[in-house]
Parts: sequence; structure tokens; C-alpha cells
Amino acid sequence: MFSGAERTKRYKLVHPDKVRQTERNYRKSHPQKMKDKKARYYLKHREEIRKKAKEELKNLFNLCLDHYGRSCSLCKSENNLVIDHVGGNNGDSPKNYRTLWVWIIKNAFPFGFRTLCGSCNRLDGLIRHHPLLGGKGIDDILEKMRDRSNYNALFKS
Ligand SMILES: [Zn+2]
Repeated sequence: MFSGAERTKRYKLVHPDKVRQTERNYRKSHPQKMKDKKARYYLKHREEIRKKAKEELKNLFNLCLDHYGRSCSLCKSENNLVIDHVGGNNGDSPKNYRTLWVWIIKNAFPFGFRTLCGSCNRLDGLIRHHPLLGGKGIDDILEKMRDRSNYNALFKS
């Protein structure tokens, strides 16, 4: 004869769907219990969970950098990098950086993104929202400056 534990194990193997459904029903009918359980688990494994989340975030960002480059596409700096939506976010990609990285990876690294350093990214935002520049970004301004004969004098000193 099987022991109780063995019988349970066998039942789980033979009826995985039934077991899953029963568990789902239990969770649904005991929301507070589940909440408490989750909270207890989090308290017990807090450091581990945080570390794992941090690592996962780093991996997501690294995947994006692997594709879009590990230096700023404007000034070549390798510090404080961010993934930038060229031309500003027009609402079809997420704003939150974590969700943005996941979105980019899920969408197989679409065109229209690039690596910028924090300074270039902030400058782009400032320029874009400046009332006198009418929504132009750093690229438009740089392009305009490139046309001028004194461009090199401006930037190479
Ligand atoms: Zn830069």
C-alpha cells in the first residue's frame, strides 16, 4: 500500500490539471491568507528578492545596450547610459524604464531607439520642451549647427 504522501504525489502526477484547478480555487477563496503568505515570504526572503530583481533589471538593460550600443550615440560617453526614444516618446512605447526595456526586447529591438548618456538625454528633453524651439530635439539642433561653417570651431576646442 502507498502512504498518504505517496498517494498525493501520484495523484498530482496523474491529474495535474485537477490539482492546479483545486489550488486556483483555494487561492481565489482565501485572498487574505494568500496575501499574508506572500507578505511572510517577502519578509523572510527580502534581500534575496531585491538582489534578484536588481540582477534581472541589469540583464534587461544589458540586452538593450548589446543592441543599441554601449556608448552615447551623440557624445560617445560611456557613463550614465539610458535608452532613448529618438524624437521623444509619442505614446506607443512604455514610459517606465523597466517596462520600456521589456517592451523593446519583446518587440525584437525596433528601430527608433538609441543609447544616450544622461547629459545628452536631459539636454534633448530640455531643448524639446523649450517654447522657442517648437518641439525640436537635440538632433535637429545639431543638424542645424552642422550646416554652419563654424560647427567645428564650436565643438572642437
Ligand atoms: Zn552623450
